[in-house]
Amino acid sequence: MKKHSNHLETTIIHHGYDSSEHHDSLAAPLYQTSTYSFADAAEGERRFAGEVEGNIYSRLGNPTVRILEQRMAAVERGAGALAFGSGMAAVSAILIYLTKAGDHVLCSRGIYGCTFGLLGIMEEKYGITHNLISMTTEEEIEQHIRPETVCLYVETPINPTMELVNLEAVARVAAKHNIKVVVDNTFSSPYLQNPLEQGADYVLHSATKYLNGHGDVIGGVLVGSDWEDMQSLRMTVQKDIGGIMSPFDAWLLLRGMKTLHIRMDRHVANAEKVLAFLKGQDAVKSIYYPTDENHPQHDIAIKQMRAGGGLISFELEGGKAQAQNFMDALSLVKIAVSLGDAETLIQHPASMTHAVVPQEERESMGITDSLLRLSVGLEHTDDIIADLEQAFAKLGSELQEI
Ligand SMILES: *Cc1c(COP(=O)(O)O)cnc(C)c1O
Repeated sequence: MKKHSNHLETTIIHHGYDSSEHHDSLAAPLYQTSTYSFADAAEGERRFAGEVEGNIYSRLGNPTVRILEQRMAAVERGAGALAFGSGMAAVSAILIYLTKAGDHVLCSRGIYGCTFGLLGIMEEKYGITHNLISMTTEEEIEQHIRPETVCLYVETPINPTMELVNLEAVARVAAKHNIKVVVDNTFSSPYLQNPLEQGADYVLHSATKYLNGHGDVIGGVLVGSDWEDMQSLRMTVQKDIGGIMSPFDAWLLLRGMKTLHIRMDRHVANAEKVLAFLKGQDAVKSIYYPTDENHPQHDIAIKQMRAGGGLISFELEGGKAQAQNFMDALSLVKIAVSLGDAETLIQHPASMTHAVVPQEERESMGITDSLLRLSVGLEHTDDIIADLEQAFAKLGSELQEI
């Protein structure tokens, strides 16, 4: 395979695909097949024995999915990648792969709601415990490492509070104790942050979000720094639990990902304009955006991210009712979970994505009833801001009545 470049902009369009192997088709073909026929019985035996390369059955590998996997490995600067049927399938595969009964997982202070749910299941069924800490300094991480800790599981920026985890500090402590580091990089996308370069062992994405970017696929990708290890994951947990990505979803992702860099530049530019607008609103009590100069961890953001991304969280004056009424007053901005789409989306974490997290825990993570998360889309910012402005006008009159 020709290696074109280390630039993401080139890699994300070309890597892993050679048109001369596919009837010169410019676009990567969709191999919509469940299985593959062997030339003869002996060939089948050799493929199963791993003596020759070749397709066997699409749960074990599919040419369209493989192009996506090779491309993602290059884009995230890893050695190998596996595609899954959802981000959660990727999260569950790596957690099941790394842990056994009685182990401990140390997590960042906020993690995706369903990851929190999964860790709850693992604790209840297998006694695999976890706890959540801020991971801002090496000393703090060190204090929470136990003999049975096998993995540091990190999200940064944290959803939805935009707190950051110091990836360098995490990698240093992990190396000292010989513990694996897993980073959920969904919020930044590989265009803005590459945790493997900062010492993580695995990076995963909900490909549903920025990678695909068009709101029409649920998918996940796990990238690892060690090729052999990723092969072993493919032939054990991924094969036997079976949460694979479909060829059609891989094909849509290959298509969506080609514009990741262009979309991300615009998401960031639009988010910065919306941020400036939100800062001027009396009804906004607090605002969270990684590279904002008021962000308490601004220095970490500058160090490990190329830009702040497309997500902004903010707290409104008032409570849950005001937050919900504000969302109901919007029209261009859609009320929806998910993020990273062309459409601007808003959601209420306390009653939606993080409703499964017990209220006490939620509040300790900073997810209050008046917090909203905005995924700034690719529409003209004048239109996004005009929609927010008219909702603020309604909220203003409501707040005066209280
Ligand atoms: C959406 C999301 C997930 C889960 O991904 P799915 O594709 O919905 O399964 C995991 N982590 C983060 C940060 C997410 O935003």
